[in-house]
Amino acid sequence: MDLCIKNGTIVTSEHTQRSDVLISGGKISQVSETIDPSLLDDQVRIIDASGLLVFPGLIDAHTHYHLVSRGTVTADSFQEGSRLAAFGGVSTVIDFADHDKTRPLIDSLTDRSAAMAAEMAIDFTLHQGVYGMSEQIPEQLKAVREAGVHTIKIFTTYRNVGYLIETDGLRALFTACRDLELMVTVHAEDDELIEELLLKHGDQPFTPAAHALLRPAEAEERAIRYIGGLAGELGMPVYIVHLSSEAGLKAIGELRVKGVQISTETTPHYLQLTKELLDREDAPLYIMTPPLRSAQDNRALWKGVSQGAISIIATDHCTFTHEQKLSSHDCRTIYPGIPGTEEMLPLIHTFGVEKGLISMEKLVALLSVNPAKMFGIYPQKGSLIKGTDADITLFDPSIRWTITNASQHTAAGYTPYDGTEVKGKAVMTIRRGEILTEGDTYHGVPGSGRFVRAGRPGIYHRHTR
Ligand SMILES: [Zn+2]
Repeated sequence: MDLCIKNGTIVTSEHTQRSDVLISGGKISQVSETIDPSLLDDQVRIIDASGLLVFPGLIDAHTHYHLVSRGTVTADSFQEGSRLAAFGGVSTVIDFADHDKTRPLIDSLTDRSAAMAAEMAIDFTLHQGVYGMSEQIPEQLKAVREAGVHTIKIFTTYRNVGYLIETDGLRALFTACRDLELMVTVHAEDDELIEELLLKHGDQPFTPAAHALLRPAEAEERAIRYIGGLAGELGMPVYIVHLSSEAGLKAIGELRVKGVQISTETTPHYLQLTKELLDREDAPLYIMTPPLRSAQDNRALWKGVSQGAISIIATDHCTFTHEQKLSSHDCRTIYPGIPGTEEMLPLIHTFGVEKGLISMEKLVALLSVNPAKMFGIYPQKGSLIKGTDADITLFDPSIRWTITNASQHTAAGYTPYDGTEVKGKAVMTIRRGEILTEGDTYHGVPGSGRFVRAGRPGIYHRHTR
């Protein structure tokens, strides 16, 4: 059914204005100050958006739904992930294809994409993990690019489980990516420093709180300097995922001054939560990697967001149930990851826009426009431009509510933001013209979500070597 959204206020990264939006055949067909309903076909459903903001559908650019890891699988699979995302106003996610080193990259990508297409109700695209370098990788990356994936993800840590690529291999991998115009995204923590600290830690108990000591901000900072140095030397852009610390942000600023094209995202948890949570009885519920930092880091990251040094907020949504999380209190074996996709919009609105740190347009930039541009899916996603996918989030900025374990739709059964009072809620999420959520009702159909082919990352348009 075609839709006409009447009386709302559209917000893009550029402007806010009163406009009606007509959706036909899943695409945005008209955006104008007023659309006369009497001129529309009887079949068009009119949605009254009085008092609501009309955003381009939000994009969570960093999710791990149905992640098989450490002999278990995450609580939120593709169906649960789609549902909770839609309730949070998110209509597209960018998830990850792992690197199975026994097969060409394209095989794991194709499998992941097919598994998601079978169950997702929102749209998705992928980042391709690369955990090892070989002579075959450049050719394999070409196939990945032809399949519509233009970003890879690497780790500078987890040498012990075979995720780390040593310097020579990394240089060859970066060069291949530069030549193919692929974006390299990096989980930045210095493995050597972490190993050193582990040795020093000796036989002290590996409590949840030790997680923050064993993976300090300094490890992030060192890895960022190393990666940024390499990218600068090769004259290519690079992107740091889930930036967690003031020290890391400072390193990024210094690299930029030297001319390095380095971009970054942070997450709601590094903006809002602190490592004091790791002293609680239920501390494993707040374990993720990198670990939570201090209130000072929260403030520095918010400053980075408001001043533009951090251009994207994504969640690293990776959930485990209470039972999975609390099955260990040893920081080396607690399943890492927390929920986030559904909480993202109300948190960023409350603690960013309502606190005066960012404008509403900036919120839309951080959560929709910028990730779409960065990862090559703009304007199909992240815009309200005529002819593009009709992905729309209707947001009521006036609703006051409390995020609780019961209010959230994650199969984890808890939220790290339990008890947080927020303002603003997504009241309707539309994906390609189909209403996925309407208030508390979910209409999403598993398998209706589609893989979005990405083009060249935005940063390769702006900078030519
Ligand atoms: Zn992640």
